[in-house]
Amino acid sequence: MVREKCKHSWKMTNVRDGFIVTERCYHCNKLRVFFSYEEVPPKDEYKEGEHYWNYAGSAQSFKFDMECTKCGKSVSFESLMGLMHCVGCNARCHLNILSQIGEMQNIWLFAALAYHLGNEIDLPIENLEVLTDYFTSRLRTPGKKILVVPGSLRHDPDTCRGEMLKDVGMLSLTPET
Ligand SMILES: [Zn+2]
Ligand SMILES: [Zn+2]
Ligand SMILES: [Zn+2]
Repeated sequence: MVREKCKHSWKMTNVRDGFIVTERCYHCNKLRVFFSYEEVPPKDEYKEGEHYWNYAGSAQSFKFDMECTKCGKSVSFESLMGLMHCVGCNARCHLNILSQIGEMQNIWLFAALAYHLGNEIDLPIENLEVLTDYFTSRLRTPGKKILVVPGSLRHDPDTCRGEMLKDVGMLSLTPET
């Protein structure tokens, strides 16, 4: 990887409000998660291929980009749904194992979860690096670090017990004003 000269300092920009909408197929139990800009999240049932998608819940959220305050570089976070901290599900969950190792090193691990239409995908590495930088730079505990890793490290998206990072103090994704 080519090292860039700027030691970026990220800030959140271009914040857009909306909803995280979850749908589940009642035939195969598959999940899809997407972002909706509509004021009221869509709740219609529909058939697509072999799937029968049903509304399964929604939560207020927002999308954002990150911009470096020094060089002006901008990174889009179109597919980021949220950040999750595994609180210990089972020994086969790589996120769980890495979290425990990280904790001993004063590193707090978060998995970046992406919007997807049926099959989970991971965010680009650049996005993970920017989030790691951004959240670590906002920590007030000396020596503590945050590492943002791919969501696919979870053993099973349905059983991985974790806390979604939503409004946890200064780690909140709430945009700065
Ligand atoms: Zn920069
Ligand atoms: Zn299905
Ligand atoms: Zn887990």
